Amino acid sequence: MVVVLSKGKLLDSISTEIIACRKCELCRTRKNPVPGEGSPNSQIMFIGEAPGYWEDTKGKPFVGAAGKFLDTLLAEADLSRQTVFIANILKCRPPKNREPLPDEIQKCTPYLDSQIRIIQPRFIVTLGNYSTAYIFSKVMLPFNGITQTHGKTYETTILGMQTTIFPTFHPAAALYSGRYKELLQQDFQLLKRYIRPKN
Ligand code: URA
Repeated sequence: MVVVLSKGKLLDSISTEIIACRKCELCRTRKNPVPGEGSPNSQIMFIGEAPGYWEDTKGKPFVGAAGKFLDTLLAEADLSRQTVFIANILKCRPPKNREPLPDEIQKCTPYLDSQIRIIQPRFIVTLGNYSTAYIFSKVMLPFNGITQTHGKTYETTILGMQTTIFPTFHPAAALYSGRYKELLQQDFQLLKRYIRPKN
């Protein structure tokens, strides 16, 4: 008998693996892993960097100050947390929110790859340098920094499926600079047009 599991059940099994993960040292200092959340049937997947203090506390992605701004950006693009899927490169918080280490990225990203394979998103929106660098490396695109790449679509094949990558800045950048806030808002308006083209 062949049992076909739903995308939701498959994602749950990845979350279970992440909760049990001991592949790197971050499992010792984390409070909660943050597998990601949203609609398993979403056509759009957002990828951030790593959980921060509030994400670690609650076990959910983007629930701190940057997350509040992401909610605003989603609403401005007629999207919501219920209609997209939000994940990160690292599933556990690096101590003091330091940047992800190459070894942590290497050990953790197979979980993200599995999530991409299950969801099969039509659009992958990368938030900031780390997630854009990782996704670009998977599809052999040269990455010259988020300032050069943001706000454009890159049609490609990732993990054997057709998708469009849309890089933009990390929402936390908007907390430090009004200019980044403006650029993020502009990028999300472009995204809104790309995902719902007018005939
Ligand atoms: N920053 C990220 O990159 N991801 C989160 O989940 C929260 C903050």
